[in-house]
Amino acid sequence: MPDGKTHEMINTAVLIVAVSGLLYLATLKEAILIAGYLNTYTIVTFAVAYLFATFFLSPDLDIESSSYKRWGIFRILWWPYKVIFKHRGFSHNLILGPLSIVMNLALIAIPVLLLAGVQPQSLPPDFIIAAVAGMVLSMEVHIISDNFISGIKGAF
Ligand SMILES: [Zn+2]
Repeated sequence: MPDGKTHEMINTAVLIVAVSGLLYLATLKEAILIAGYLNTYTIVTFAVAYLFATFFLSPDLDIESSSYKRWGIFRILWWPYKVIFKHRGFSHNLILGPLSIVMNLALIAIPVLLLAGVQPQSLPPDFIIAAVAGMVLSMEVHIISDNFISGIKGAF
């Protein structure tokens, strides 16, 4: 499978393509339903969430990966995840991987928001949808890259 740096390069390249596509779709306002939802705010939220996920929420949080180490002392918050999910098990499932990581992040983020005096349900739905979409796409690109490169290696 690709190492952390290769994953980050692949993910960044896909983000550039994805954001270009979204910016193009946003110009087709009348033509496509989703275009009404696309604006600078949602596209920037999507891109920032995607990059955050690429560097901090990779499915390789199930091992001592660079994503795991980037959390610094807060890596303790991902320790249960690392212990529960053996490497490339559920964390690398196209549905369960992103779902479990986003749920673990929510378990971390909700208390932080409450402590900061922000009611999580007061966050704008557009923001939540764009952020979750960005994070999930980043994880899917990681999982697909892992499977694709393992497939190529397996063929030789
Ligand atoms: Zn991986």
